[in-house]
Amino acid sequence: MTWQRRIERAQELAKESAVLPEVLDFYQQIARFQSNLADGPAPADLEALLTLIRRTAPDPRVHAHLPEIAWDDLLRSADPMHAFFARVILQADAAARARRNPTASEVQPRCPFCAEKPVAAVLRPEGDVGKRFLLCGLCFTEWEYRRLLCPNCGEEDKDKLPVYTAEEFPHIRVESCDTCRVYLKSIDLTKDGRAVPEVDELASVVLDLWAAEHGYTKLQPNLFGM
Ligand SMILES: [Zn+2]
Ligand SMILES: [Zn+2]
Repeated sequence: MTWQRRIERAQELAKESAVLPEVLDFYQQIARFQSNLADGPAPADLEALLTLIRRTAPDPRVHAHLPEIAWDDLLRSADPMHAFFARVILQADAAARARRNPTASEVQPRCPFCAEKPVAAVLRPEGDVGKRFLLCGLCFTEWEYRRLLCPNCGEEDKDKLPVYTAEEFPHIRVESCDTCRVYLKSIDLTKDGRAVPEVDELASVVLDLWAAEHGYTKLQPNLFGM
């Protein structure tokens, strides 16, 4: 998956759906910025990112978090907005490194490359039903995982792993676990082959709000902290 394809998908989704076009526009700016980052995070990247955000952030509250901050302080900060800035830069770097060091797929609940919990599941066409993969939100590595197995607590009982869908998102499911009350969304590429999992996941915030209302906690927040 290239940054260019992620940007194109955000453009498609912004046109097709009534879902948060300003968030998708902002995501395109961020992804363009990420696509231009050179090797390794550098202090200059942070300055460039803050300049971009001053210009384009849809939420004016972001500006309150923009006073001068050094890269080292950013990584230690507990402020969720600072965590977002750091993640934009680290994500580009982690994705580039993960591409250079492909890892064998293993049945494990965390990213085999950077040990993060998965931000989403992906169903890819294979055989009759599609194979399930987990997706790392930091480096975008996908690794194969059993269909009926909670990546948080290991529950395998089908009756305790309900799946919810909504009409507006025919290719996205909320895969939840009633044992640990944790969920993640899955992007079903057998239903929409044009979907880009990490972008479609960001665009379906409505499902996250629904899950929270029903008492489920997300396994791993996405780039925007949702
Ligand atoms: Zn990873
Ligand atoms: Zn569970």
